[in-house]
Amino acid sequence: MKNVYAFGGGKADGSKDRKDLLGGKGAGLAEMTNLGIPVPPGFTISTEVCTHFFQNGSRYPDGLKEDVQKALARVEELVGTRFGDPANPLLVSVRSGARASMPGMMDTILNLGLNDRTCAGLARATGDERFAFDAFRRFVSMYADVVLGVKRHRFEELLTAAKKKAAVKYDHQVPAEALREIVDGSRKIVQEQTGKPFPEDPHDQLWGAVGAVFESWNNERAITYRKMYEIPDSWGTAVNVQAMVFGNLGDTSATGVCFSRDPGSGERKFFGEYLQNAQGEDVVAGIRTPLAITKGPDTAGESMQERMPDAYGALREVEARLETHFKDMQDMEFTVQRGKLWLLQTRTGKRTARAAVRIAVEMVQEGMIDKETAILRVDATSIDQLLHPTLDPKAKKEVIARGLPASPGAASGRVVFTPDEAERLAQRGQAVILVRTETTPEDIHGMKAARGILTARGGMTSHAAVVARGMGKCCVAGCSDITVDYVKEVFFDIQGKEYRKGDLITLDGSAGEVMLGEVQTIPATMTDEFETLMTWADGCRRLGVRANADTPLDARTAREFGAQGIGLCRTEHMFFETERISAVREMILSSDEAGRRAALAKIQPMQREDFVAIFREMNGLPVTIRLLDPPLHEFLPERDEELKGLAVGMGVTFETLRRRREALREFNPMLGHRGCRLGVTYPEIYEVQIRAIAEAVVRVQQEGVDVIPEIMIPLVATAEELRRMRELTVRIVEEVFAAAKVSPPPKYTVGTMIELPRACVRADQIAVYADFFSFGTNDLTQTGFGLSRDDAGKFLPAYVEMGVLPKDPFVALDREGVGALMEIAIERAKKTRPDIKLGICGEHGGEPSSIEFCHSLGLSYVSCSPFRVPVARIAAAQAAIREKRGELGGVHSTA
Ligand code: ADP
Ligand code: MG
Ligand code: MG
Repeated sequence: MKNVYAFGGGKADGSKDRKDLLGGKGAGLAEMTNLGIPVPPGFTISTEVCTHFFQNGSRYPDGLKEDVQKALARVEELVGTRFGDPANPLLVSVRSGARASMPGMMDTILNLGLNDRTCAGLARATGDERFAFDAFRRFVSMYADVVLGVKRHRFEELLTAAKKKAAVKYDHQVPAEALREIVDGSRKIVQEQTGKPFPEDPHDQLWGAVGAVFESWNNERAITYRKMYEIPDSWGTAVNVQAMVFGNLGDTSATGVCFSRDPGSGERKFFGEYLQNAQGEDVVAGIRTPLAITKGPDTAGESMQERMPDAYGALREVEARLETHFKDMQDMEFTVQRGKLWLLQTRTGKRTARAAVRIAVEMVQEGMIDKETAILRVDATSIDQLLHPTLDPKAKKEVIARGLPASPGAASGRVVFTPDEAERLAQRGQAVILVRTETTPEDIHGMKAARGILTARGGMTSHAAVVARGMGKCCVAGCSDITVDYVKEVFFDIQGKEYRKGDLITLDGSAGEVMLGEVQTIPATMTDEFETLMTWADGCRRLGVRANADTPLDARTAREFGAQGIGLCRTEHMFFETERISAVREMILSSDEAGRRAALAKIQPMQREDFVAIFREMNGLPVTIRLLDPPLHEFLPERDEELKGLAVGMGVTFETLRRRREALREFNPMLGHRGCRLGVTYPEIYEVQIRAIAEAVVRVQQEGVDVIPEIMIPLVATAEELRRMRELTVRIVEEVFAAAKVSPPPKYTVGTMIELPRACVRADQIAVYADFFSFGTNDLTQTGFGLSRDDAGKFLPAYVEMGVLPKDPFVALDREGVGALMEIAIERAKKTRPDIKLGICGEHGGEPSSIEFCHSLGLSYVSCSPFRVPVARIAAAQAAIREKRGELGGVHSTA
């Protein structure tokens, strides 16, 4: 096994295709070297070494020390300085780099190799004592934090005190002598806290750092991040050791981050931020708010283009080459050392959903990628973000502060200052805005819970901005108009006006504005690029996409989003409407059929009008209507006053109704008197619904509407249940059609929901009476696992946490179990009815990995909530493309 891979100096051992081995950073550095782009020389210790390290009780593989020695000697040769040389020392950075990019998750140490003697040498060699001590100060604090576990704020306090004493505002203004004192003070803190002196020997420092990078793979924030983005724990990280270049060698030096296209809008426009006389961390951590790279109307002569035109020109050349080479938007880190440009990182840039769509479509139009690649480039789930609201431009707003438009969208919520509180209140259903001076990876759970994020410091590439964009949350960053006081739990605006915890504010992440109170929002408008991508996706997919819609409004939204029909129209909500609920209650509480029929007669015309309206909306598209499903007691009034009122209306005593209510209670309603069991025992209920459907069909057909009704019987366990319900359906429908004398008689189908294991295994018998099956995977998951969704909260999260289950099966379909039941059902149903139509209408119908599974099962459609329809269209296309490329997850994988 080769442990160490060199890069830089015009030649690299690795390439972009070895991300698994070199991590993203190492592979990028190798590839840039191969392209002849200036990269400080260094080497990558592979992820295999990390795996070995964890499997062998934190021990390195044999020969690693020698390999590292050799690789280090190569770097010394290329740079012309020696590691540990007191006359002119080589300094290195030690950088982690996993296969998937994990921004800010793992720790990097800069300026490694410094001690008193090499620091003096560095000062002489560069002729800049201040610089040497600044590098040393940074090194001690990073090393102490990452390797020795001493909290960084202790060192920051020293720096703050020094700034105060020297009466300066910025770090780079602190004089050399004060920096030397900070170094000494920092080492003293380390001695006190760890009981050991700060390591002086550069080789000890190097191995300490390498071990710490490996260990950091298992730190809490890295674990949280992996969980969030489903990165396997087994991948491990690589370690990159790289010669330092210095952006803090005065005003001809700088450091920055840039993107080959705008990561917020996707516009084809070079974009980035930089700081003169600074080291890399300063830009990312928001220590000073960085300046724009490219000259613009507001740059006031401070842009890199204006101040360092040569380095800027070189950067533009590199940026264009990298994008053309990788055929995707690049996110790059660079440093200019005394006028010379060096690239330190390139990776596929994270972007908002809007930008992802625009970039994918424009790259096809530019001839850089093909349509299928474009479709695969977009994260299907993130499409959701495009459908989210923005501020109503007509709404009144009181802007209290302005910051950077770090992540688009708009959100209102109550101000909170800690991630824990954000999480707590969000769990109680409150909308919150997380307000921080700046965010760190420790805040991720709070950022996830908040509707929006506001930070006082940090630029467009700060932690807050990057993470918010990834999450599709709106974020205003670098809002220097505000100051945050965590102790008092308030923030102040520029006039000193105070805003307290719990105050309601609104963020506009597209404009960078903070507003008082809740400002009206409007639904998102689709862009042309979005429509184009959707059209391409529709051309690729095999799965149909329908929507679950219960109202004419839902139906219209679904159509606008491209649904090809309604896969599930639940009828029960119609029973809840205010004018009807008393008739429904009367029906339920009647003790005999005659009473029920009398009450149902009142409901029927209303129900018919519901269907008429939905059929009109869905002209030309199929509508699957499910007959009444929930247990009856759900419709009953809980409060006695309501029951009393009802008794008066029905002319019975309160006591009678109270007893009837008790009689209707069930121990386990999920498995109780519901679904087709209602229809079998009280056929008059289904009869009324069927009649309403049939009459609606007749009516709209006379209006010229092309209506395709599919009547669906829920919760069928046995063929006999469905036989009876089908017979009932056919009888009523034919009766209505005959009476209306419409010709030709409208077409309709009768089918069932498959949501019980028994129905799956006896699908052959059930299919005799079913024109279609629709898998109700919510209930099939409940009944297949034998677990109630409403009670699962007590253990399901723990199961996922402990790895007993790979994922929440209510979110991503459990292919191995519930999926296997579906396979059995399909195989057996096709034995008796080869042409049976198959669909799915559970929540899973809008979740990409489940959609992929449905594609491989050969279902004809998925049905999901209207807002998920675009997600499903993309996911279905991706499944078809992956299948063509032989990249589909297996039927038994939960990936
Ligand atoms: P992260 O993954 O958190 O971005 P990096 O390893 O990329 O961590 O490094 C953090 C910062 O230090 C970046 O700005 C990077 O450009 C800078 N940096 C890393 N190595 C060097 C180096 N050898 N010389 C100069 N700057 C460096
Ligand atoms: Mg980086
Ligand atoms: Mg169900």
